[in-house]
Amino acid sequence: MELNFTRRFSMAHRLLQSGSEKCEVPHGHNELVTARLAYIGAQPLSPESNIAADFTDLKTDWHRWIDKSVDHAFQLGLDDPLIGYFKIHEPQHLSRILVTPGDPSTECLAALLLCKYQCFLAAVDAPFEVSSIELVETPTNTVEINKTDLALFPALSSDGWWRRPDMSINDFELENNQAASRSEKASLTSA
Ligand SMILES: [Zn+2]
Repeated sequence: MELNFTRRFSMAHRLLQSGSEKCEVPHGHNELVTARLAYIGAQPLSPESNIAADFTDLKTDWHRWIDKSVDHAFQLGLDDPLIGYFKIHEPQHLSRILVTPGDPSTECLAALLLCKYQCFLAAVDAPFEVSSIELVETPTNTVEINKTDLALFPALSSDGWWRRPDMSINDFELENNQAASRSEKASLTSA
């Protein structure tokens, strides 16, 4: 059994390693994301309710994250110099930067979305897993990533915002907290 949930969002990105000048310049797309959730419960459904889980439990965090964090975010690769620009000149907008390991291609974003949704499901102990994410980038371009395709993105096996069931799309706040705690420890040691 499979459930599909679809949501839309707008985004901007640029692809510095694409070799395409038009992709290297910041530009945007209106995208549709469809998550396919496969039932992994061991038990048959309740004969009274005939449902595996409340749809609200399965999609509330996911839709909130797409609407509040992913929609209108600027997707940039971790090494993109524009991140340095925002850190210095527009730090108030850093929460709108979605950071990807390597270029923020549609393939990479689909894989990151799959990881993130999987975290939301695990956090509520849902008897479902994300079997695939379909990302419609334009009316004529669609990327579909299934969970076995995650092996194609080795950088995603490391820790990052995609491994946390929270509203984050980058690790700036975490990095700031870690830096603050390091400097606090250093000042205690030197005192
Ligand atoms: Zn694009």
